[in-house]
Amino acid sequence: MNIAGRNTIACTKGIDEHKGAISIAPLPHQPVIKDLVPDLTHFFAQLTSIQPWLKTETPTPQGEWRQSPQDREELDGLYECILCASCSTACPSYWWNSEKYLGPAALLQAYRWIADSRDEATGERLDALEDPFKLYRCHTIMNCTQVCPKGLNPAKAIGKIKELMVERQT
Ligand code: SF4
Repeated sequence: MNIAGRNTIACTKGIDEHKGAISIAPLPHQPVIKDLVPDLTHFFAQLTSIQPWLKTETPTPQGEWRQSPQDREELDGLYECILCASCSTACPSYWWNSEKYLGPAALLQAYRWIADSRDEATGERLDALEDPFKLYRCHTIMNCTQVCPKGLNPAKAIGKIKELMVERQT
């Protein structure tokens, strides 16, 4: 929810961090179901659209899909997202174009799977994001990174996707 003008997760926000009256509101620019409860149906539909699961063509191994420690480290700062929607609902580009722009949370998850060494659908994932709105409505305003209560950096992840888009054209 939005507490004292900033999106955050209420369960980690101490009342003693604030002085005087505290404003509390639902996450901004989302339909409200009731009181402080936003309707995140569209937010989660956008998450589903990036297909947040391991996609492979190689036959499934007997044991686990193996990954080197170095490749595993590439996922640090990505897998920890709790999908609280603080970032997307703090983003002006998302406020204005949420029907077509995927927003920082879904794009951070998109990069989480693009960056996964075990995933074999990178080209397909980038194709799906090659769109004037889905990805490129990010104008690096950085609100997402400033508000994330987990200290993650969706803007950086979006930048990485844009870099990959350029690299694959050269
Ligand atoms: S990136 Fe951070 S702010 Fe955005 S949904 Fe994940 S945990 Fe919440």
